[in-house]
Amino acid sequence: MADRKAPGALQVEKTPACEAMVIGAHPDDDDFAAGGTSALWAKQGKKVVWVVMTDGAEGSEIPDLVDTDLMLTREQEQRMACETLGVQAVEFLRYPDGHLTNSEAARKSLVRLIRKYRPRVVVTHDPSQHIFAPDPDEKPGDTAYLNHPDHRATGNIVLDAIFPAVGNPRSYRELLAEGLLPYQVHELYLFFSDRVNTYIDISEVIELKARGLQCHATQFEPDTNMLDMIKSWAEGTAREAKEKKGLEMHYAEAFRRIKLYVPEEEKESKE
Ligand SMILES: [Zn+2]
Repeated sequence: MADRKAPGALQVEKTPACEAMVIGAHPDDDDFAAGGTSALWAKQGKKVVWVVMTDGAEGSEIPDLVDTDLMLTREQEQRMACETLGVQAVEFLRYPDGHLTNSEAARKSLVRLIRKYRPRVVVTHDPSQHIFAPDPDEKPGDTAYLNHPDHRATGNIVLDAIFPAVGNPRSYRELLAEGLLPYQVHELYLFFSDRVNTYIDISEVIELKARGLQCHATQFEPDTNMLDMIKSWAEGTAREAKEKKGLEMHYAEAFRRIKLYVPEEEKESKE
């Protein structure tokens, strides 16, 4: 570890400026994975920011649609969803949908955003999750889901941005001139993970979560019963919370929670 007291050493900022930044690959990923948790935190007066990595231009069955039209429509849907949930800001990075890679440019754009908003928690896709597949002998009628490459890329970009670049005074030094100082993220919450250890009770905001998802009109059949669909998923997650942790919840969202930094005062209060 480098000498933090060396002459000219720049201190790493550890005080958050907002509660959470949720970073998803496509418009509607943040909603499905963390719409309830975001609405709950917003209701508690905490500032939540969302980021969408791609332009969402492959999110349709119609080859003839103009990319920019679909992109702008989906961004508008995402803004409406954020307003519904109480999410205070949303940033669109507009990388081409379906082609996101863990590039220098993508990492730098996230370093910029994380330093700008200084979230206590960063919430994103679990990059280690590649295949969701039932045992074909146990469930012969079910099919697998291959996790979208943009989801895996997003998780990798976020993790690689957080460590080491966001908190390293010598990474992306040109950002210092923009006032974007190195910052230490406190926690990571990974969603769509098979190593879940944290359940958030979203019972009081389940209707809001469904209403947020309904804003993504280009993504669902008009007669989709969003509330029923969301309730049945969130009920399944709540059952898991009961089985694994003995928690009593009606509706839940699940995350793999990873602590990266514990403030001194929190360490002391636990002793
Ligand atoms: Zn997605």
